[in-house]
Amino acid sequence: VFRKILVAVDGSEHADRALQKAIELIQALSSQPSLTAVHVNPVMMVAEPPLGIDVDAKLNEEGHEMTEPYRQVLDPTGIQYDINYQTGDPATIICDLANSQNYDLIVMGTRGMSKMSELFLGSVSHKVIQHANCPVLTVK
Ligand code: ATP
Ligand code: MG
Ligand code: MG
Repeated sequence: VFRKILVAVDGSEHADRALQKAIELIQALSSQPSLTAVHVNPVMMVAEPPLGIDVDAKLNEEGHEMTEPYRQVLDPTGIQYDINYQTGDPATIICDLANSQNYDLIVMGTRGMSKMSELFLGSVSHKVIQHANCPVLTVK
């Protein structure tokens, strides 16, 4: 039974379609699953930030702005949802979240923001399919 569904979003049209599919799926299910939209900012700290810059606050603000369009899509659906914004390696964070919080399904795009259109499957999807403990639905 699907109770908790995790949707990985990166701002791409593929991720938009993945979110749309997840919404349709949830609305068709009688188990009334909740949805978490997760976005991972793949930041790497290479140097000390300039003095007076609050890196955490800036990242939080960026995360809020980045995920705002997803709130706008989800609010009118009435689906119980939350937004999870983190920094780090996207595939690792998505899998750790899904595995530790016992999500029943991950929904994501086959590809994302990268322009390498000859690839059938992006590297984040590839890694998540390999390492997640739950089924993964990839949306073209
Ligand atoms: P690349 O391997 O070069 O990044 P790509 O960008 O085309 O190629 P992926 O990054 O694997 O492909 O994107 C596939 C899907 O993975 C996206 O549609 C999205 O669902 C998810 N995804 C990718 N990056 C992130 C991220 N930073 N945070 C959350 N989900 C992501
Ligand atoms: Mg990508
Ligand atoms: Mg990438």
